[in-house]
Amino acid sequence: MALPVKHACPRCQKPGIDGLAKRWSSRGSPAKCEACGGLCHVLASTSSGIWAAGILIVLLSLIAAVGLHSPLFVPSGLVLALACNLWAWKRAKLWPISKESATSATTANWFVTGIAVLLGLS
Ligand SMILES: [Zn+2]
Repeated sequence: MALPVKHACPRCQKPGIDGLAKRWSSRGSPAKCEACGGLCHVLASTSSGIWAAGILIVLLSLIAAVGLHSPLFVPSGLVLALACNLWAWKRAKLWPISKESATSATTANWFVTGIAVLLGLS
């Protein structure tokens, strides 16, 4: 799915953030602004909240489809979840992050993964 939409950079206010880059951005792998080269990301709580809302809508439509014996609720629930997802991602706030803290977040992720692997092996 092509998303030609560019998002405004929280640093220079120019539309330099790619729609997909924003969607996959996180503290450890932030999106890069094409205009100023600054890094920014969507908060993890925002992105997981968006996914949770989508799953909830799909679940509710499944329950409605079974409860009301109307399978039409399923496709309409999926469309609603998708629309909600796109809308929420468009509105999600981008936060600027420095290169240093992005790197340390990545290191922290690897550190946690390393400990988890060690714990799993022992
Ligand atoms: Zn910028």
